Amino acid sequence: MINILDLFKSEELTEKSDGNFKTICPDCGLQGGRTEGFILFPENNRAYCHSSHKNFNLLTTAGLKFKIIKCLDGCDSGEKIEVDNDIKNLIYESIREKYDENFYIEFQRACESYDYFLIEKLDSKGKISKIVDIDKVADYIINKYNIKTIYGLKEENIYVYENGIWNITGKGLIKSTTEDLLDMWSKNNIVNEVLEKIKRKTEISKEEFDNVPEYKRCFINGVLDIEDIENIKFLPHSKEYNFKTKFPIIYDKKNKCPKNIKFIKETFYPEDIPQVQEWFGLHLPKIYLYKKAVIIHGPKNTGKSVFLNLLTKFLGIDNVSDLSLQKISSGKGFDLLVLKNKYGNIHDDLSSKDLNDGGGFKMSVGDGYISGEQKFGDHDRFRNSAKQTFACNKIPSVKDIDDDAYYDRFLPWKLDNVVDSNNKNIKLINELTTPEELSGLLNWALNGYYKLMKQNKFSNEKTSEEIKELMIEHGDTLAKFVSEKLIENAGCKITKEEMYQHYCHYCLFQKPKLSPCSKDQLGKKLRRYAPYISNEKSQNERYWLNVKFNSLSNMTPDTSLKITCLQIKNSINKGVKINNIKLPNPYLLSPDKSIKINKNLSKKLVTKKKTEREMQFWEIDECKDIVPTHTKEQLYEWLKQNPNYTNKQMEEKWGVGCFGFHNELIREGLIEQN
Ligand SMILES: [Zn+2]
Repeated sequence: MINILDLFKSEELTEKSDGNFKTICPDCGLQGGRTEGFILFPENNRAYCHSSHKNFNLLTTAGLKFKIIKCLDGCDSGEKIEVDNDIKNLIYESIREKYDENFYIEFQRACESYDYFLIEKLDSKGKISKIVDIDKVADYIINKYNIKTIYGLKEENIYVYENGIWNITGKGLIKSTTEDLLDMWSKNNIVNEVLEKIKRKTEISKEEFDNVPEYKRCFINGVLDIEDIENIKFLPHSKEYNFKTKFPIIYDKKNKCPKNIKFIKETFYPEDIPQVQEWFGLHLPKIYLYKKAVIIHGPKNTGKSVFLNLLTKFLGIDNVSDLSLQKISSGKGFDLLVLKNKYGNIHDDLSSKDLNDGGGFKMSVGDGYISGEQKFGDHDRFRNSAKQTFACNKIPSVKDIDDDAYYDRFLPWKLDNVVDSNNKNIKLINELTTPEELSGLLNWALNGYYKLMKQNKFSNEKTSEEIKELMIEHGDTLAKFVSEKLIENAGCKITKEEMYQHYCHYCLFQKPKLSPCSKDQLGKKLRRYAPYISNEKSQNERYWLNVKFNSLSNMTPDTSLKITCLQIKNSINKGVKINNIKLPNPYLLSPDKSIKINKNLSKKLVTKKKTEREMQFWEIDECKDIVPTHTKEQLYEWLKQNPNYTNKQMEEKWGVGCFGFHNELIREGLIEQN
């Protein structure tokens, strides 16, 4: 809205103590001996000359400026200011010459109020009446705001451009603006006519409007162009990019994020941190560049939720959806539509309920097209850009565990650094998401994105086989039981009762204890993990065929040796480097497993280190079954009472083979100390 002050340059104006302004009268100037005798009242767009004692409004003040009217032609106090049409038009023409088109329109509208939008019409009885010029109102609003309309089957969306993005708030804006402009003339039917007119005049095709650049992203203070990683550009906002959303972050390449770095170092394993950085970076382009989803697993109070909240705040809460893996996998149109235009899909506390089919999930990870369904039956086909991040205590399993492509999609991160609830910083998330920290985090993410693009894959990526083992290990107890306890053996049988007992026993002797599934569920799911088994029945016995317990389980089920591929990995995690692993005692592992270890683990450096004390407890855990003369509990007890024993002293007291498994590997030259 134009104000009377806008007709003057700021250096022409002097502010008075009452908030009004004074200047030199544009016409009489120095007359009357006063130099600044012309008072402007911005609140009601009026002016008064102390020399002539006349009053002026916006239009006549402009007339004074352009010397179209004289100071003495102003009106006396209390009189209505009236101007001839000829003079009025002269003033408008001068405004048009001196200012731009927008100013000209706004000026006219300010002078005339709603009259500006009215036209005279001759009715059937020959009487002149005024009606609203719908086109003029519509054009005025379209000119003032940037508006685009997308038609649907039954409803349309009207967008307005503001601060870099198109908001779906057009309908409300048009209605309220029309009411402001027309005042008493804004009857319902008039408002609706204006709305319809604007919709028709601003229609754009959905395809065209959905076309958003893949490597440009909108931020609070501008647009980052990250297409050329060697030459990242920061551009001004523009409506041409069709952005509907933006990151709630100010880009400033000077900012750093010390608190976030500290949190990430305390929360994640060192070998996962490059992936965490690259994962932030993957969210920067719109396109889903790599077919990966993150699954964070681990017990409570390990920072999972803080991390998910941090990622959510980084992306902006409105840019994040919250679909579970199960919902995505089942792939229903209504559910999937919420992914549209989202930067991330972040789901905490994922249920461990099995997935029937990983198909929908595989489609949503990566750059595939998704078909969504809107209300009123509008179909919407879009490329998913919401990067998937899940957190859970237990990883849900998929019906078809041989689906390597399913496992291949995951970056599994294990969190196990439990924060003592007494030391928990409940304000942590606020400290991590201040404007500076978020801005610094963006720079950190940009570095991650750079690295990801340079190496064209994530750092320390695991093979699909390793991921599968890891996910099964941290998932279904039955899967774990099958992989550790059962082996294929044609013709062998185990009764159903015996199988269930072994399984329950197994679960209860895990640390922490696992909760076994029901006998019925075991019956339904066993073959998923052990497809070689068949379900048989003789006259009075029900049993599983082609399976036996592995020999170690058979010896003593409660203290059976449980060295699996993953536990060997654990031993390596204690800070040693593998040259070439062969196991010292052939009976510890079945031959096929040792081959797998050779293939997957050789030449891998794992950096996570534990203290000597942690090592001692760990070795009890690892080696409890090697020496059958002591129970694990006895050893734990002893270790607790003798806190200052060194590894070497312990070995002398208890002998190699108890605490020495790991040391033995070193001595044999099979692995070497870092
Ligand atoms: Zn004057």
